[in-house]
Amino acid sequence: MKIPLEVRREGLYCCPGQFYIDAWKPVPLSIITHAHGDHAYRGHQHYIASKDSKDLLLHRLGSHISLQVLSYGEKIKIKDCWVSLHPAGHILGSSQIRIETSSTVTVISGDYKRALDPTCQPFETLECDIFVTESTFGLPIYRWQDSLGIAKEMFEWWEQNKANNHPSIIYSYSLGKAQRILSLLKSFTDQPAYLHGAMIPLTKIYAEKRIEMLPFIACSEQPKGYTFSKDLILAPPSAAGSPWLKRFPHFRAAAASGWMLVRGARKRKGMDQGFVLSDHADWEGLIQTIKQSQAKVVLTTHGNTDVLAKYLREQLHVDARELRGLDVLEEEID
Ligand SMILES: [Zn+2]
Ligand SMILES: [Zn+2]
Repeated sequence: MKIPLEVRREGLYCCPGQFYIDAWKPVPLSIITHAHGDHAYRGHQHYIASKDSKDLLLHRLGSHISLQVLSYGEKIKIKDCWVSLHPAGHILGSSQIRIETSSTVTVISGDYKRALDPTCQPFETLECDIFVTESTFGLPIYRWQDSLGIAKEMFEWWEQNKANNHPSIIYSYSLGKAQRILSLLKSFTDQPAYLHGAMIPLTKIYAEKRIEMLPFIACSEQPKGYTFSKDLILAPPSAAGSPWLKRFPHFRAAAASGWMLVRGARKRKGMDQGFVLSDHADWEGLIQTIKQSQAKVVLTTHGNTDVLAKYLREQLHVDARELRGLDVLEEEID
């Protein structure tokens, strides 16, 4: 089967369509799977992305960019391909890219997950010939617990700290994870959460889309001397160990990430608590998705590409290969 993709210096390239996907160097046309920094780069002449990701992309890349937005499922012709975007369940507006030529259907899933996330459209199962899958957590040890159960643990941790007058700080990625936490916690409380300034504009974009979340307030809006002793605070991981924390005397700190499953990760980062909450598929989610795609060829990118590809070849007897060279700039965003 002829694979219509190649990894070029600028990024992943679709040959019959003459466009790139999440290119990291400036190109004439890049289709963007989602607004995370390791996928949405500046400098392209034209962008195509989902309608739901429009405001996030304009916020991150500037309102001057040339951006064409598509509804999920809407098909457009680009050179010799029919191209459409489909929900990936990763963050607001995240998309899988389906590329149909006269001979093959290819799906590039981008970052995706199968777990509950009230802030975005759930992952859509697509059948195809060639499936490109991420494998960030592509090891059998990665298995996620129920998302609402994790949110309940967060709420109880907050309640416990509150009883002892400790501010509760949860470090989480600013785009996607923070808003998902705010929406999952809605099942347990209506109390407001306080946010680090970096999260405010992104969270406002989610709120404008009427995504249900806890009420949120910027920490900076509180008067000097306010101690946050009963409050939940969300902050990006970069705030850990920074002078910004002086505002929160006797705080307790936790991190919310799939990496918290790894023994030692919590200690290494100096956390009191770790919540295993990921915006990527776990091992079972990857295998289930790959089976459902019914693809004859599976290309693995990002993370444990070799382990996953080997498992697929030996256990599922699919033609699985690593798609090398795509994770040069990938951060451990989760
Ligand atoms: Zn991402
Ligand atoms: Zn990514």
